[in-house]
Amino acid sequence: MRIDLHAHSNASDGTDTPAELVAAAVAAGLDVVALTDHDTVSGHADAAEAVHALPEGTRLTVVPGAELSCVVDGISMHLLAYLFDPEEPEFARERELVRTDRFRRGRAIVERCRELGAEISWEQVRRIAGAGSVGRPHIASALVEAGVVATVSDAFTADWLANGGRADVRKHETDPVEAVRLVRAAGGVPVFAHPGAVKRGLTVSDQVIADLAAAGLAALEVDHTDHDEETRARLRGLAGELGLLVTGSSDYHGARKTVRLGEYTTEPAVYEALLAQARGAKPIER
Ligand code: AMP
Ligand code: FE
Ligand code: FE
Ligand code: ZN
Repeated sequence: MRIDLHAHSNASDGTDTPAELVAAAVAAGLDVVALTDHDTVSGHADAAEAVHALPEGTRLTVVPGAELSCVVDGISMHLLAYLFDPEEPEFARERELVRTDRFRRGRAIVERCRELGAEISWEQVRRIAGAGSVGRPHIASALVEAGVVATVSDAFTADWLANGGRADVRKHETDPVEAVRLVRAAGGVPVFAHPGAVKRGLTVSDQVIADLAAAGLAALEVDHTDHDEETRARLRGLAGELGLLVTGSSDYHGARKTVRLGEYTTEPAVYEALLAQARGAKPIER
């Protein structure tokens, strides 16, 4: 069993359509892939359609999910949520609040980039993002198009879009203890995404992780491209102390990042344990 529990489509800042992501998961030899777009479930229906249209003899399970933008003590962090009821109103409202604020903030970042001499436009960013939940990676792609930086990842520096960078503007983000509560109340399973990704900015303290565990967090995403070996060992130890499961995932973003789908994976027993906690939705199978 090859299980990758974190992937983005163009419903947020990935470059594959949900159907292309399904095809890529089959090509990567995955048995299970989770679709976890930032603050949105808008890719789920197309992904389900693509799974149901797979040819006879091809098997793939898509775990419907999302990745929520959270903040605690001024530090941004991401919470993965799996198999929640997408219709549950309180959680749906919170996702919508974040998505709406992404538009205001996207315009403000573009404005700031222009003041700093980058000739990009909001229309261009909207074209790049399409129907997707707008984020800094789309603006990074606009900066690449304009020749300001060479790659998306080069746009995430203090000069441009990194947390606290010259052109960074904050968006509404949810308190993670509240987010864990919302996910559980919607029948979902919350997992802390890349908790030690220091290259993205400050990371939260062990005490915050303990608070989240007490609030109902299920797991830490330990095996992730943004964690070095030492960070993984430390997080694995912390998960053990707190009684949390450990996952591994690619955080695939198509052409916007270099990581390959299925590059990091989750143990089947852990996947089964997460499924056993889910009440809000069912995995999508052919
Ligand atoms: P946003 O959700 O608009 O605040 O943008 C955050 C997204 O930017 C993350 O989900 C990543 O996809 C991407 N990102 C953050 N830091 C980096 C980085 N250092 N290099 C490349 N992409 C990054
Ligand atoms: Fe992203
Ligand atoms: Fe993330
Ligand atoms: Zn992600």
